[in-house]
Amino acid sequence: MAQSKSFSGRDMGIDLGTANTLVYVRGKGVVLNEPSVVAVNADDGSVLSVGSEAKSTIGRTPSNIVAVRPLRDGVIADFEIAERMMRHFIKKVLGNRRFSRPRVVVCVPSGITGVERRAVIEAAAGAGARAVHLVEEPMAAAIGAGLPVSEPTGCMVVDIGGGTTEVAVISLGGIVTARSVRTAGDAMDAAIISYVKKKYALAIGERTAEDLKMSIGSASPVYWAPANPSAEDGGDPEETQGLVPSDRAVIRGRDQVSGLPKTLELTADEIRHALAEPVDAIVMAVRQTLDETPPELSGDIMDRGIVLTGGGALLRGLDVRLSRELDIPVVIAENPLDCVAIGTGRCVEDFSSLRTVLDAQPNRLLATGRL
Ligand code: ADP
Ligand code: MG
Repeated sequence: MAQSKSFSGRDMGIDLGTANTLVYVRGKGVVLNEPSVVAVNADDGSVLSVGSEAKSTIGRTPSNIVAVRPLRDGVIADFEIAERMMRHFIKKVLGNRRFSRPRVVVCVPSGITGVERRAVIEAAAGAGARAVHLVEEPMAAAIGAGLPVSEPTGCMVVDIGGGTTEVAVISLGGIVTARSVRTAGDAMDAAIISYVKKKYALAIGERTAEDLKMSIGSASPVYWAPANPSAEDGGDPEETQGLVPSDRAVIRGRDQVSGLPKTLELTADEIRHALAEPVDAIVMAVRQTLDETPPELSGDIMDRGIVLTGGGALLRGLDVRLSRELDIPVVIAENPLDCVAIGTGRCVEDFSSLRTVLDAQPNRLLATGRL
């Protein structure tokens, strides 16, 4: 395979997500996938652990250790920690062998400001990159989901991550209309925490809320689908046995009245009710973006359907809900959690061809930072 001259050996694409960071290494694919979390010693600022190890400490740390999510709201909220996290992941991917400093393509939310872009470029450079290129998240998500972004046909991608939901209509290699709202997975977790607090006076942690969302959360009263969708079309029915999720879950928290630990059983209906507000906000963002889309392109979207990516795409019944309310087909991308990383990786692998497309609207699509 012919390789682009501008990228070599250990060049990489980084999906710097608010919840998870994925690193794609040229010629290898996605080699790292860890939570965007750093455990920091508050006394001296030293980093204790990064990624999976740090996430397991969330809500369990002694008072002098804080688990920081440097990208929490879809922007770099804590620049120094973000840089250290990126440095850690890049180092982990490169190992101890000595390579020339890599070129890096980093994916960023479409709504970020020039100053925030600069911060990402500097963080990547500080983390050891020789040159940094930025690609907008919905574009990377669309490429990773296999959408024909360069063709003169409209496609819509909705990427629901931890901090932000990115909605974009893409045609001819450019973003035609886009919207980035700060309501996504984290807001759903927060809504569950607040529901349980109000209704049962029970305090629960973020991890418990996220577990509830994933196990019994939903966006519409859907029949529980088998956990293994491929089994539907001719797969071994035995495979799905025991995988159908239950419609209730038992959680533990702290009773706010007695201050003592308490167990509680919650139903899927309750969690759906708790999630109504953030889910409505996401549906609204998609509706507004469709409203602003030129009619020819909406026609294309009606035919092709809306493609969902990001971890939030996995919320049960969200596809059904969007499709019913907007009267448009909705499909969940294959491996929604990996789409952005794969799309960013494609920008590394096919840099020259994608660049030609992207250069058509350089300001909107690809900000290149030469360092
Ligand atoms: P980011 O790009 O912001 O890092 P991701 O695309 O990695 O975000 O998605 C992470 C979000 O997806 C988290 O809020 C997580 O709780 C949520 N998520 C992951 N799996 C599921 C699931 N099965 N159901 C609902 N939400 C999920
Ligand atoms: Mg993402």
